[in-house]
Amino acid sequence: MRVRFWGVRGSTPTPQAENMGFGGNTSCIEIRTDAGQILILDGGTGIRLLGKELEREFKDAPIRGHILFSHFHLDHIQGIPFFRPLYKAINHFTFYFAGRRDTSIVKDALAKMMANPYFPIDMSKLPCSRDYVDLAEGIFNIADTKVLVLPLNHPQGCVGYRITQNGRSISYCTDVEHGVEWSDRNMELLAKDTDFLIVDSQYTPEELPEHAGWGHSSWTQAMATGIKAGARKIALFHHDPYHEDSTVEEILRSAMKLHPDVIAAREGLEVTI
Ligand SMILES: [Zn+2]
Ligand SMILES: [Zn+2]
Repeated sequence: MRVRFWGVRGSTPTPQAENMGFGGNTSCIEIRTDAGQILILDGGTGIRLLGKELEREFKDAPIRGHILFSHFHLDHIQGIPFFRPLYKAINHFTFYFAGRRDTSIVKDALAKMMANPYFPIDMSKLPCSRDYVDLAEGIFNIADTKVLVLPLNHPQGCVGYRITQNGRSISYCTDVEHGVEWSDRNMELLAKDTDFLIVDSQYTPEELPEHAGWGHSSWTQAMATGIKAGARKIALFHHDPYHEDSTVEEILRSAMKLHPDVIAAREGLEVTI
């Protein structure tokens, strides 16, 4: 599988020179499976650039994609209205979310963001065809790709994903606050012996106490989880908007002392698993 980071920033976009080494767009990750399926984790502002790249690649051929949301905080959905492939009738997208009992939560959450007076085009008017899937927690399949989805501790809820194909796995655990037993356990299940753990590392340990209840982790907690679970490669993700490149680099240098294969997620970075 091939992973490409399109947005790595947490909370809000940060288009400022001192952050651009790692990038200013919010959460969006593309996974191409070995069978060529397109899986997209979250629709933050990074998804706009992914859309541009998909148009270049597919030209007039139809695009079929699967968009899996961790939750609906703005930084994970605000790129959706600007994802241009949605505006072409031959394209098809399936939107997924899990962890709550309500039906049609995915459709409602996205439609409300684009409703009057927030956006000029109603979601129902988008030309592409779409499916909305409200998942129960557990395992589901997208063709030959197995996806485990489990809830994580975050205000208003969040889910993590573990995507497995051809014996390789990618785990996505962002927007999660440690210290709640069921959630810590779910994180461990999602990350157990994974080939690649992409993990919330928004704060430094010093910053964490003043952000209790905000729903995020320190990079030391992220590393501890990855090491305990036996993750082979770890990507620090969801960088704090106030962490300039120099801060992220400093965090990475410290993290590299704890694990032989750790990176800080950066816009444009590709990783083959
Ligand atoms: Zn977030
Ligand atoms: Zn969030």
